[in-house]
Parts: sequence; C-alpha cells; structure tokens
Amino acid sequence: MVFDGTGAEGKLADVAIKGERIVEVGAIAATATATTVVDATGKYVSPGFIDPHSHAAPAIGTAELAAAVPILYQGITTVMINPDGGGPGDLTPQISDIETHGPGVNVIPMIGHNGVRRDVMGLENRKPTAAELASMEALVKKAMDQGAFGLSTGPFYIPGKYSETSELVALARVANTYPNAFHISHIRDESSYDVGVLGAIKELIDVSRQTGIIGVVTHMKMLGPSVWGQSEPAVEMINAARAEGLSIWADQYPYAASGSSLQASLVPGWAQEGGPEATAERLQNPEQRALIRQEMVANLERRAGANAIMIRNYRADPSLNGMRLDEIARRNLQDPLDTAIDMLIKGGSSIVSFNMNEKDVELLMQQPWTMTSSDGALVAFGVGGEHPRAYGAFPRKFRRYVIDREVISMAQAIHTSTGLPAQVFSIKDRGVIAPGAFADVLVFNPETIRDVATYQEPHAYSEGMEYIFVNGQTAVADGKVTDTRHGRVLRRGQ
Ligand SMILES: [Zn+2]
Repeated sequence: MVFDGTGAEGKLADVAIKGERIVEVGAIAATATATTVVDATGKYVSPGFIDPHSHAAPAIGTAELAAAVPILYQGITTVMINPDGGGPGDLTPQISDIETHGPGVNVIPMIGHNGVRRDVMGLENRKPTAAELASMEALVKKAMDQGAFGLSTGPFYIPGKYSETSELVALARVANTYPNAFHISHIRDESSYDVGVLGAIKELIDVSRQTGIIGVVTHMKMLGPSVWGQSEPAVEMINAARAEGLSIWADQYPYAASGSSLQASLVPGWAQEGGPEATAERLQNPEQRALIRQEMVANLERRAGANAIMIRNYRADPSLNGMRLDEIARRNLQDPLDTAIDMLIKGGSSIVSFNMNEKDVELLMQQPWTMTSSDGALVAFGVGGEHPRAYGAFPRKFRRYVIDREVISMAQAIHTSTGLPAQVFSIKDRGVIAPGAFADVLVFNPETIRDVATYQEPHAYSEGMEYIFVNGQTAVADGKVTDTRHGRVLRRGQ
C-alpha cells in the first residue's frame, strides 16, 4: 500500500527507483527487471519522514555518530538542524564537518538567531546597537547565501530572550529577501512566564505580518497547568491569521513531556544573563539567591511542581539521572527549590518536564497545519540521560495517536511527516512518492511500527521500519541499518 505523502489514502502500487530518483509509480510490467526487489505486500510505503526540529547537530558532524542510526530507525530521512535559534552564527564549519563524515540522513541547515546574537553581543541582556543589529543581519544573509533554508529563533532561551520583537522582525526581513524563506520559532513563552503562550504566538504572527515571512510555531504546546486548555484560543488565533492570508504553521512532537534545562525552566531571565556560570555565581550570593529563589517558586508551579521534573543529564552526579526533583529533595531533606539551586551551582542539568495535557496535545495534532517533529538529540546508544523522543518520536505518533487512539488518520499522519513539511519549507522533490522525486522511501509494517524508548529506558531503537532508501540507496534492509551514509546537506533552491 503506497501513501504518497499528499494526504491521499493509500493505494496498491509498485514503486520503481533508478539512481537517486523515483522513476515510476503504478502497475509496473512483470517483465521489468531490477537489481533489488522488495516485496512490500501487507506493508506501507511512504516518503521518508522529514523532521523540522532536530538536534542532530553537532553530533551528525562527527565520525562516531554521522550514520544517525536512532534517527533512521524512526523512518526519518531528512533533518532540519539548528532549531530554537541554536547552532553556530557562521554555518561554514558545521556544514563542512557534516559533509566530511557523510550523514546517514539528509540535513537542512537553518540559521539560528541565538547563535548570531551570541557571536555579535555575547550573552548580554540589552538591545543591540544599530551597528550590532547590522552585524547580525549580515550573518543571517551570509548563512542564507550559503544555503540555509530559513531563520530559526528561540526567544525563550538566552540570549534571544533579551531581544525585542523588532529585532526578530529585522532578521526575518533579511531572511525573507530569499525565496521561500521561513521563520521557525521556539516562541518566547509556552506557558505563563511573561507574555504568555498566546502573547508569544501573537508575536510570531506579528513577525510574519510585518515581513510576509512564513511563520512556524515549533514544538507547539501548552506548557503547564496555568495554560492547559489554551490550545483552543491558540488554534483560533492561528486560523484567524491564516484567514488573513498569512502563512502560519506549527510542528509538534507526540509526547506530554518536554525537554529543557533546570536553568531555562526555573531561573528568571535576568538571572541567566552571562550564561550558566554567571547564574551559579549569583546563586552563591545570599541576597541574590533569595531574590532568584523567590521568582523560582512560581516557575516551579508553572512546570507543574517538583514531581513533574525528571533529571536527565546531571554531569556532577549521573546517579541522579532518571530521578524526580522531589525525590532527590526528600533524600536530601531539602526543599526542592534548594535542591534545584544546589544543582544549578554544580553546573545544572537537562531535564524532562512533564507539563502537558493530553487534550491539548491531541487538539493541536488534529490541525491541518500541524507537522510532526522530534526535537530529539543524536546520541551514542546508551550514553547519557535522554528524552525518548530521540529514538521514538515519529513511530510514537503512528502507534499511539493513529493506531491506538485514532486521533488522526494514517494518511494525515504520513502527510504531516512528509509532503506537508516539504511544502512548507520548500524542500524540492522530496516528501512525496511520485516520478521524479528523490527516492527517500520507507517500507514499514503497520502491525509492528512502534516506539520502544520510554522516559525510564530512553535508549531503545524504534521498530517497524523494514526498508529505508535515502537518495535511492539502501539505508535499512530487513529491519537493520546498513551503516552506510547516503544523506547529503541540502541547500536552498537545489
Ligand atoms: Zn525548543
């Protein structure tokens, strides 16, 4: 059964691949010959998945991890890197590292606002001067000239947090002088920290309204009990913007827990200035500690309390990985906030934050403008605390939300993982099964497709992918990664 990625229902068909492209789809003559024939009877054939929010870089530019094995086992054949405004301000070394090692999947670079701002102004909490803004604009222009597809921003994180909307507008305007550019953003507030989730979505829409750029709310969510249920007005706001003629979209990973850091989720913005070491210093000053702690009370509530925070990767004491903050605090006979502060002083930790409501997750997933993403890192198998999305995001959407809960249809889930992102991000000749398209093709078993990684045991490959072709070459055969690297860095317009 072939799902072509356009959202159409599956059809019985043969698919012929020659070189790096699909050459024929339909009933292929029985007399035709091929070097490799895959019998996909009873299986689903779909375009390779496109992940618009991947933290595969920098690992994908290393010899050890370039093969991108946990990503391939999800059926992902193209990742978009430097989300959340992250990545380097100059893409040259990053692209060169990735090309040197040869990636297992295709890689689409984006240029991140936070990287650019850090290069120009460090982690300072202030507006840029006119000259600094011009330098940032020049870096965005340079990256777009090098082939970046669009601008990523993350005004939730420092130093993007210290920017005003006008700064985002200025950079989006530069990006949008290139055809099909977009602005994808980890919005300023997904909860009720400052502008609120609705205010932050409005900011993203305003950037598009002022510049005409395509706008994408990345990993869209309603973070914390204080905003649960606000998916409804958020959907209305996006529908209204689209009705106005703006091109507004979202992507989403299919989990009710997010991944973040203790610092970004609990510490007020002003106290993060200068980065984690500066924060740690402030926390060691009793007066400052008291001030910061006071603001952390509300932030912990926004995150649904200390039991909703799981320590993911605490370098100072890895034995705490996988434990909840309240559990550690009880063991230390401490208040959880003091435990968190002690950990921040010792370098902080990444966390899994259980902060979403399933109703919001499902309502957002059902919107025709919501794509699938992972937000996953690329890690060595078994190493470090991880969020299960690094191994399981895409299969989980199919297993849990299509097959078990019937929240969306199979055809829609495939479309939101293939043809839709290809269209929104102008990824040429990908995301569809059609003659002439690049042969990024999956054969998966709808009976067995599933995520295996859990919050407790995050290092586990997904199951169900039987064959994967990347640019026409076999990357997975008989359910096993072949450890060959057939991806490439894609550049805008190519
Ligand atoms: Zn993010």
